[in-house]
Amino acid sequence: MFTERYFDIRQMLGCLRSNSEVMAVRDILLLGNPRLYELCLPVAPEELAGLTRTVEDLHDTLMDFRTRCGTGRAIAAPQIGVAKRLVYMNIDEPVVFVNPVIDVQSAETFELWDDCMSFPDLLVKVRRHYSCRVIYRDLGWNERSLMLSDSLAELLQHECDHLNGVLAVARAVDSRAFALRNQSAFFGRG
Ligand SMILES: [Zn+2]
Repeated sequence: MFTERYFDIRQMLGCLRSNSEVMAVRDILLLGNPRLYELCLPVAPEELAGLTRTVEDLHDTLMDFRTRCGTGRAIAAPQIGVAKRLVYMNIDEPVVFVNPVIDVQSAETFELWDDCMSFPDLLVKVRRHYSCRVIYRDLGWNERSLMLSDSLAELLQHECDHLNGVLAVARAVDSRAFALRNQSAFFGRG
């Protein structure tokens, strides 16, 4: 399944690299790396073509993480050390968000135990807006918007935070909002 997706993204990008080339899995920056706290710069239209390789690397890195860890729905460019406003999501199909902005969000919020590929063993209880609208550019520089709710809404809020150098740990709801992933059996027991 992952192999098929790997080929799909190359077709989507019109990439010239052959499928037989090795995957470009990049190191994911981990909690404590100061580069995760940098404000990312907007992508300019003329930069788009040059970011094709970065999008491929985001895809390969996300798929590798998912294969190893069983989780991972999206990844932000700064997590592989590229300080640009670029998010790659792959749930049922690949979606690239260039310069995403959340411009509308619900007053209704909910709490969840959030995770992140930059601290894979840690869970953090955060509060997110239940729904939101994200406006962005696609790889053809077309303006697009998506209304999202529930798990997709919190995912995009998490990823857009990355572009502003904000990690989920900074959004912890209280002093007990941190747990190691292997302790999740205790959740909901106060
Ligand atoms: Zn993250």
